Amino acid sequence: MSFSDLGLSDALLRAVADSGYDTPTPIQRQAIPSVLMGKDIIAIAQTGTGKTASFVLPMIDILAEGRSRALMPRSLILEPTRELAQQVAENFEKYGKNHKLSMALLIGGVSMGDQLAALEKGVDVLIATPGRLMDLFARGKILLSGCAMLVIDEADRMLDMGFIPDIEAICAKLPRARQTLLFSATMPPPIKKLADQFMESPKSIEVARAASTNTNITQWVVETPARDKRELLRSLLRQDEVTTAIIFCNKKTTVRELCDSLKRARLPVGQIHGDMEQADRIRELDRFKSGAITILVASDVAARGLDIPGVSHVVNYDMPWHPDDYVHRIGRTGRAGRTGIAYSFATPDDAENLANIEKLTRQKIPRWTGSGSTAPLPAAPAAPAAAAPAAVAPAPEAANPESEPREKRKRDRKRKGGDRPERNADRPERNTDRADAPPADSPRPETPPAEPARPQRAEAGRPPRGESQRGESPRGDSPRGERPPRASRSPRAEPARDPLASYRALATQPPSRHRPDDDGEVFTGFGPEGVPDFLTRPIRQAAK
Ligand code: AMP
Repeated sequence: MSFSDLGLSDALLRAVADSGYDTPTPIQRQAIPSVLMGKDIIAIAQTGTGKTASFVLPMIDILAEGRSRALMPRSLILEPTRELAQQVAENFEKYGKNHKLSMALLIGGVSMGDQLAALEKGVDVLIATPGRLMDLFARGKILLSGCAMLVIDEADRMLDMGFIPDIEAICAKLPRARQTLLFSATMPPPIKKLADQFMESPKSIEVARAASTNTNITQWVVETPARDKRELLRSLLRQDEVTTAIIFCNKKTTVRELCDSLKRARLPVGQIHGDMEQADRIRELDRFKSGAITILVASDVAARGLDIPGVSHVVNYDMPWHPDDYVHRIGRTGRAGRTGIAYSFATPDDAENLANIEKLTRQKIPRWTGSGSTAPLPAAPAAPAAAAPAAVAPAPEAANPESEPREKRKRDRKRKGGDRPERNADRPERNTDRADAPPADSPRPETPPAEPARPQRAEAGRPPRGESQRGESPRGDSPRGERPPRASRSPRAEPARDPLASYRALATQPPSRHRPDDDGEVFTGFGPEGVPDFLTRPIRQAAK
């Protein structure tokens, strides 16, 4: 099946072809025709499955008919984090380049004055995090009565972050006659209840969990005393095979300290965590995507959803406390048909967490027990079947969230030090500073050892990875069969090379008013006026 079998317009098919995609993914095959028919959809799909295009593509064609009105967005996409909201906006830019739709991003960390001005002009697509959207409601600055399409993306993540009451309130403000699309990696009871309450005879679609079929990720548990973790990490990062790596820590302070320590070791490293200003987060992600830095130390705020092509390694510097986080973290590598390696450092204190991860994934992850922190780490995927590193393959029942009720998760978190996944606040770290030796009887996979630690590669000498989605230059050829441009929209200038450039510039403005926001940070109010071009311009001026 090709994209042209799905019922999409010619203009859209050209944009898809320009993106380099010729075959729809399973979620796209199943969702797109139904969305075009106006059906409600419940899709159980993780990031990495192509789910974003499965709603963005039909939305563009549906919204191509009709026109926007001031303060009344025609469609709403709810995302749990700013980064995901931005990724969806980038998808609209990419696929909507032959259409004349306008969109606005409503997310924390960006001046609300500018976002309001964009809304006042009228937008076809509003992409928002629930915290910021609710803030606007409280001020009477937005009307959702004209919103005929609603997308709730990453619903289980929304649940984890405590957004469900906000989403219920938002749903109640939308017209009853609307189309609702709900995407979630899992279907815990509160999400099911939400769907029952707010959806009309939805069609259910389920595609394999991204990690469940992803045999491209080779996994190792590296048993180590806590005191040796830093040195172990440094030697790992200096292996030649490590071209790009994301290092996950459980706590923001660990992210900061580890990043500083790796900088002192002259490694090309950056960081991303929930305490950072949005502009700084974007800058760090951009540096990583462009290859200016090749190592990113991250808290779980970066674990879910972020689509960074070509990550060769993921390192769990801290063993994640919740098994789902493990699956999400390692899913940052081995994407889009590539192979990837995931190392998880395990101190003796991590035994229970590790057992839970192996229970969820129903696989024993091979242990590597070095003779000391300077020993080389396993690098290449292991060949012998007996010692083959595990690929994540959670059985349906193991992956079923009901097998681990929310209450139990809450209890677990409490026991582990009040660890509640608040609105993107990172989780406090357990004390892993015990210097116990690893168990002597740990199996040691028969993998050829990697080269000993090598000197650090020069940052400037590294070629940038060439796969960033940004910087794509839209084609100017005239699309045949395209719908006529709407008279209400005036022609705009050629989009900037970086489609989010003006948004990025805006995000550098300092906030000024305090309110807890969706990222556990504070929203600070109205910034300088002047609407950035990105927020209001048509996604792409149709070529004449
Ligand atoms: P998502 O699940 O939406 O986060 O998408 C994961 C990745 O798959 C993104 O890099 C998309 O650009 C890419 N992608 C989306 N659709 C396709 C497709 N039909 N073929 C290949 N890659 C795709």
